[in-house]
Amino acid sequence: MIVGDHLEVEAKDKDEEDINIMMQLMVSNPCVRCGKERITVRTYNEMVAGSLIIHSETSCPDFECQAVVNKKLEKERLQRERMVNVVQLRQNARGKKKE
Ligand SMILES: [Zn+2]
Repeated sequence: MIVGDHLEVEAKDKDEEDINIMMQLMVSNPCVRCGKERITVRTYNEMVAGSLIIHSETSCPDFECQAVVNKKLEKERLQRERMVNVVQLRQNARGKKKE
């Protein structure tokens, strides 16, 4: 990504259209695996504390690549859950010792 200072200096000399393009680049969301621009597969709105939040789900345009990414994310999620379980087990064990 472009360094923030550099981008600000450039933006001053650009007309509105160029800035819009830059904004789009800033929110670009390339695939973590292959670097292709991710596509929005679903958007949904949600009201949270009186303000509208727009969620969007993105996916790699390459179906096989997205499947690999999903598998990786699922693995990380399971690892996180396991770590939480370990912490809870330790807390439980400590609690028993006190009794
Ligand atoms: Zn990909």
